[in-house]
Amino acid sequence: MGLIRNITKSRNLETELIMKMIKKSDLPSKVCITCGRSFTWRKKWEKVWNEVKYCSDRCRGEKQKGNNKI
Ligand SMILES: [Zn+2]
Repeated sequence: MGLIRNITKSRNLETELIMKMIKKSDLPSKVCITCGRSFTWRKKWEKVWNEVKYCSDRCRGEKQKGNNKI
């Protein structure tokens, strides 16, 4: 009985791992309004994800440049 229990336990762990992997690849993504490329959620945007509009600091800088010209 003990053996069977161990196998069931490890199978559950395997499923848990797979679920975690799916979650990781299923992160939210947005499209950068400067370059039009899609980018994926990053840890550093954890708290500001709703406000993130650019894929990188570079794109944010280019947008600001454009505003200065106008
Ligand atoms: Zn961009």
